[in-house]
Amino acid sequence: MIWVAAIKTNMVCIFCKIISGESPAKILHRDDLVTAFRDIHPIGPTHILIVTNRHIDSVNELEPEDESLVGHMVLVAKQLAEQEGIAERGYRLIVNTGAHGGQSVFHLHLHLIGGRLARFAIE
Ligand code: 5GP
Ligand code: ZN
Repeated sequence: MIWVAAIKTNMVCIFCKIISGESPAKILHRDDLVTAFRDIHPIGPTHILIVTNRHIDSVNELEPEDESLVGHMVLVAKQLAEQEGIAERGYRLIVNTGAHGGQSVFHLHLHLIGGRLARFAIE
């Protein structure tokens, strides 16, 4: 019962804890809608997560009124890619969704990965 209540209020979500400052992270950007920080297990020289400030489990829970929020996530990723010096050579933007999509943290986030040549296959 306690466990269910905790999930509903997002008390167990690691990204909610990072956004609130309860858990540490290397924060690179913060505004009204999103927070961006370095991934704890980077798979490239640059690996940043752009996370919605509001807890949304995944793309599956997005509503039509979230359209500008999703657009904003991509524009923040573009800005961070420029800041990291990887814009010209290119990068990957990835949103894993659900079990088959390889999502491991169920709080909507966009991966910005760059700084090396990506393998052809999407991992
Ligand atoms: P997903 O697999 O859900 O698309 O991506 C989750 C990402 O979050 C993974 O790349 C993982 O390394 C990262 N991650 C998980 N826990 C933490 C954490 O506590 N801090 C940070 N900075 N990244 C985390
Ligand atoms: Zn959350």
